[in-house]
Amino acid sequence: IPKGKVRTRFAPSPTGYMHVGNLRTALYTWLIARSHGGTFILRIEDTDQGRLVEGAVDVIYKTMAECGLDHDEGPDVGGPVGPYIQTERRDLYGKYAELLIEKGAAYRCFCNKEDAAEVDVADGVSIHKYDGRCSRLSEAEIQANLDAGKPYVIRQKIPRGGTTTFHDAIFGDITVDNETLDDQVLIKSDGLPTYNFANVIDDHLMGITHVVRGSEYLSSAPKYNLLYEAFGWEIPTYVHCSPVMRDAQNKMSKRHGDPSYEDLIARGYLTEAVLNYVALLGWSPKGELAEQEVFSLQELVQAFDISGISKSPAIFDIVKLDHFNAIY
Ligand code: GLU
Repeated sequence: IPKGKVRTRFAPSPTGYMHVGNLRTALYTWLIARSHGGTFILRIEDTDQGRLVEGAVDVIYKTMAECGLDHDEGPDVGGPVGPYIQTERRDLYGKYAELLIEKGAAYRCFCNKEDAAEVDVADGVSIHKYDGRCSRLSEAEIQANLDAGKPYVIRQKIPRGGTTTFHDAIFGDITVDNETLDDQVLIKSDGLPTYNFANVIDDHLMGITHVVRGSEYLSSAPKYNLLYEAFGWEIPTYVHCSPVMRDAQNKMSKRHGDPSYEDLIARGYLTEAVLNYVALLGWSPKGELAEQEVFSLQELVQAFDISGISKSPAIFDIVKLDHFNAIY
């Protein structure tokens, strides 16, 4: 990767607090930018109004600042294409959705929620997906619905049949059957984009080269790729990170009492110890550094490499964190 070209973003939805997995994603994303002399962006993905949690944005800013994960462009520092708060960019997404309609890769759907909920049963696996009936409306029917002032959403038109393949830096090539992909909503009836759409538009407009996110989004990646292809845009490098788990079966969750970053600090853990521990939770240094345990943030910048990120889920172990805390 040429130096200076890398642009990464941490794109949290302000729907809760910074859990250990979020912090790790933020750290890895920052490290990829800093280790290549690149640019790191902070983008608040707040278009899903129903899921917003008051105060969550402040917790994100505060945590990032406390951890030294400084951003080059973003809501509070401006930037050439900022500010990066998606609801403040709301007018921009509709234009791109219209463009997709023109290209035949999206369509207006006038169905209400109840009509749209369908269960396709294929090979014994039930897939909740919309049956695409509005993609078959004639121009006259569409016009009549518009004239009648019927509310609508804009959906992605997934090609019927065939497969879609995408590449992930950690998981390699993944191919899915297009029949398993749903005509997801891109623009909601309130005119706001869904997370899935705003994310693709912004990653492109912000020139993001490496999309680092949790592996829960792996199953959406083929749909993102189809969008990039419809626009004729270059697909970024995907870096999907496996989750941080509380045990072999369960993800960490605040609801089940697992500590967030703030909780750990309140319990007396040091930020440096938490960062050092989190860095090694799913990433291993290589070569002569393979045995090294203590890393400052600057040393991490020197040592970090995407190929050291693990495919397997990491298990949070408070005893190990205690060990790091004792060192610092
Ligand atoms: N807004 C998403 C979240 O908070 C981020 C996913 C991404 O980074 O693309 O889960």
